[in-house]
Amino acid sequence: MEFRRLAEAFEGIEATSKRLELTERVLALLKTFPDSLVDKAVWMMQGKIYPDYVGVELGVAEKLTIRAIARTYGAKEEEVVALLKKSGDLGVAAEEVAKRRRQRTMGQAALNLAGVYATFERIARASGAGSQDQKIGGLSELLAAASPLEARYIVRLATGKLRLGVADQTVVDALGILLSDGKVGSVTELDEGDRKSRDEAKAVVQRAADVTSDLGTVARTALSAGLAGLKRLKLKLGVPLRPMLAERAETLEEAMARMPGAAFVEYKYDGLRMQAHLGKSTEIFSRRLEQLTSQFPDVVKALEKAFPGRQVIVEGEVVAIDPKTGRMRHFQELSQRRGRKYGLGDATLGETDERDVIKEIPVRLHLFDLLWHEGEDYTTRPLKERRGLLEKLLKPNEGVALGDLRRLTDTKDVEEYFQAVTLTGAEGIMIKNPDSEYEAGGRGFNWIKFKADYDAKLADTFDLVAIGAYWGQGRRGGWYGGLLLASFNDAEGTFESLCRLATGFDDATLAALEERFAPFVAKAKPKGVESTLEPDVWLQPKVVLEVQGAELTLSPNHRCAWGALKDDAGLSVRFPRFTGRWRDDKKPEQATTSKEVAKMFQARRKRQGLA
Ligand code: ATP
Repeated sequence: MEFRRLAEAFEGIEATSKRLELTERVLALLKTFPDSLVDKAVWMMQGKIYPDYVGVELGVAEKLTIRAIARTYGAKEEEVVALLKKSGDLGVAAEEVAKRRRQRTMGQAALNLAGVYATFERIARASGAGSQDQKIGGLSELLAAASPLEARYIVRLATGKLRLGVADQTVVDALGILLSDGKVGSVTELDEGDRKSRDEAKAVVQRAADVTSDLGTVARTALSAGLAGLKRLKLKLGVPLRPMLAERAETLEEAMARMPGAAFVEYKYDGLRMQAHLGKSTEIFSRRLEQLTSQFPDVVKALEKAFPGRQVIVEGEVVAIDPKTGRMRHFQELSQRRGRKYGLGDATLGETDERDVIKEIPVRLHLFDLLWHEGEDYTTRPLKERRGLLEKLLKPNEGVALGDLRRLTDTKDVEEYFQAVTLTGAEGIMIKNPDSEYEAGGRGFNWIKFKADYDAKLADTFDLVAIGAYWGQGRRGGWYGGLLLASFNDAEGTFESLCRLATGFDDATLAALEERFAPFVAKAKPKGVESTLEPDVWLQPKVVLEVQGAELTLSPNHRCAWGALKDDAGLSVRFPRFTGRWRDDKKPEQATTSKEVAKMFQARRKRQGLA
């Protein structure tokens, strides 16, 4: 199958901003490729060559790519750089050079998708001495055989900047349609039977995506084995599943009312969520299912000691520990550790080596769930059984402990536990239904989070996505002085503006804002962004940050939950303030959803007796 087909599909997707049309194009792409290639087409459409959890990225440096382009087309590097400056896009620059320099040599074979993919694999895996030459060589090979349009996408893929804006949800929708009615029209045009079969198909696709965290594999399975095949996809060691998420409660009474009598009430640790897979080797994944294994060699060791000779998938939260007192430290300390490179420390450059960092910022993993054991999927078993087995298997040590848990029935006891733990600095508690299954990728009331900042003006914080920036004035002149933030509409796969943020930044953060966002600057409003306000600079919706607000209000200026609560009005956060926490552990699609914001607004109104 020719690579040209994929490049043309990308071009079509790029030209589309309407959601239905986008779904239609993705559907067409899925139909174009045979099952043996569709996984690769889906990964590449999302700008990668493997699912995220593999932890291997293309990301060829811009400089190397410029060299490869110049070398292939016999151009000067300055010419490529000038074109890059003009368009701001190295892919377009490559396309332009290709157009100017030459046409494909007569008789040269067209690029095929499998070949391009194999070369990308080689480029991604090249490491050590000579790897730069291998990368340039590989890229040159591809470019030499590429048409100008193909060159555009080869370069964007190689540099990790494809950004077609196809959300996971769009792929799930398209697969659901493919496996049911096959019609892309709006849902209202479907008859009852079609709608039902589509919803059912989508649910199966969604579950497969939650269990495998890999839309490529889901697409391949859907094409080769249909719904029945998708249903057979199982949890596997080494393949992370999407984490179960918690709903919020405004009061402890409300939380307990949702429990079947007794509840599991747990300490809410303020660190990083980890999903650990122990088998022949041990792998650790983050909340967004990215590899953490090499960053936490000490946790790997502690886990292997804690489950000797066992094969399990367990989940918990890792926190930084004060080496002197053994007490938990603030989340900030842990994030310092995350930034460090391990095993690469060069003392002459003043870099710390792995052992020092581990000693400086030791950590402890608090486990709260068990999802799989010796070949058996435990996610469909009730929490009490999962926890029971976890308690039985775990041999705690310095680096791994059980999360604190009380089995409580009385709201008063829950309140007491909450008071006690927040006094020691806990962020809050988790209240869980002991009879509930593990709902991979789902957010529901079987897990409820209740936080200590409940007394603050707004009971909870928001994790919002930056979609724009404003130039600062006065003392902030020359810097970004504020950001335009959005919540995620998970039904539409869009980012809806919610507030402008200008407070809570210290000077160092402000001074560094422009650099932080430089890779995401967009020429115009990016696809999937919903905003009537026009910031000075548009940003690709990539960066998530935590914000605390004073109040939620209806607003004609913001698009969050537009029309859901009042005609011609959306929702906005008043007096938003940056908490200082960048949520790099969250993907933009894991930001606070517009639905959650609307629910919070309604709950507050109810409490205030307004609704
Ligand atoms: P969410 O994970 O719900 O999208 P978030 O990342 O902003 O939200 P919080 O709102 O602070 O996090 O609360 C949920 C998170 O708390 C979990 O994802 C997990 O990382 C953490 N956590 C800490 N202790 C526990 C526990 N005992 N059980 C489950 N999660 C816990």
